[in-house]
Order: sequence, then C-alpha cells, then structure tokens
Amino acid sequence: MAFTLPALPYGFDALEPVIDTATMQIHHGKHHQAYITNLNNALAGKDDLAAKSADDLIKNLAAVPDDIRPAVRNNAGGHVNHSLFWTLLAPKGQGGEPTGALADAIKSAFGSLADLKPKFQEAGAKRFGSGWAWLVVKDSKLVIGSTANQDNPTMGDGVLATSGGISGKPILGVDVWEHAYYLKYQNRRPDYLTAIWDVINWKRVGELFAAAK
Ligand code: MN
Repeated sequence: MAFTLPALPYGFDALEPVIDTATMQIHHGKHHQAYITNLNNALAGKDDLAAKSADDLIKNLAAVPDDIRPAVRNNAGGHVNHSLFWTLLAPKGQGGEPTGALADAIKSAFGSLADLKPKFQEAGAKRFGSGWAWLVVKDSKLVIGSTANQDNPTMGDGVLATSGGISGKPILGVDVWEHAYYLKYQNRRPDYLTAIWDVINWKRVGELFAAAK
C-alpha cells in the first residue's frame, strides 16, 4: 500500500497574503509529493515496512535497515512533517487564539503568547540551513526548539541530539526550508516567521496539545 499525498484542507490561495499561492502549489504538489514518491521508492519490495504508518516508521528508525534508513528518515520525516504542517495553518482570521488548557500551559511556560512568539521565531531563524521550528510537549511541559532537515521530534534523542534537534510530542511546527518562503520573502526568513502567526490554526494546536498530555 503506497503512501499518497493528502489534499490541502483549504485552497492554494487561502493563506494569502502570508503564504502566496505559487508557494503553496509548489510546496504541496512538488515538494511534499517528492517526499512521498521517494519514500515509496525506498520501501519498494519491503512489504513489512511499507505496511507501517509514516509516523511509526520515524518513531522507530532503528527498525529500518541501514541501507534505506537515511531515505526513510528524510522522506517519511518529510511526509509526516508536511502532512502535519498543512493542518496547522488556516486562512487569516479563522485560526482563533489559544484557549483552555493550551492557553494555561502557554502562560505557565512562557508568560503569554506574546512572549512565546519571539522565542519560536528565534528557534526558526537560528536553525542553520533547512529544518523546522517546533513547539513540543516534553516531560509534560511546553518547550520550543528546532530540528534539522526533515527530522521530527518523535524520532527521539538518539536520532536528534547530534544535530541539536528537540525531541517530544509536536503540537506546532513551522517549515523553515527556503522552499517554504523564498518566492515571497527571499532571504528574509525572520519576516516569514513574523507573518505566519496570522495563519496558525490554534484550534488544531489545542487538539494536539490535549492528545499529547
Ligand atoms: Mn517543506
């Protein structure tokens, strides 16, 4: 059973002007699709591994044979990260604000959402090269960090520590690969990270927080 590209939960133009239509079309249809194609190719003829979910594959990379482990790490990671990312975004004005237990946890960990934002932006801006900024639940607390390439916090410290990646249960992730922002923001990654708050789907983040606790 091959992995397939999930449909976006909104139109390609739905996140304008924060994320432009062309970026969404290329990011979803070309980049995300490429991770899926490469994952399917890596797992061709390996029915036991291909029967697992992408989430399960990246949570236990040690179970993947050495020769395809890098391909599975990069491409199952890419598939998981992007599948999550699309759901974490919403058209401007529709994503709401943190509420309930999530709002309480943000207040406890950072003081306020206004205090969380620059820390998250800094994590994304300081990730050298390609990667992701993350808000994760780790030891029952909210923590901000980043990962390299298509690494995901569920890969665990054994995989992530060498590249300074954060482990935990991700509830918010923002793609800081140049392909995510370059057409509109060029070299200005910090501007992309400042603007993206307008299209974060806090309802979805709250659901992930509730499930992660
Ligand atoms: Mn991407």
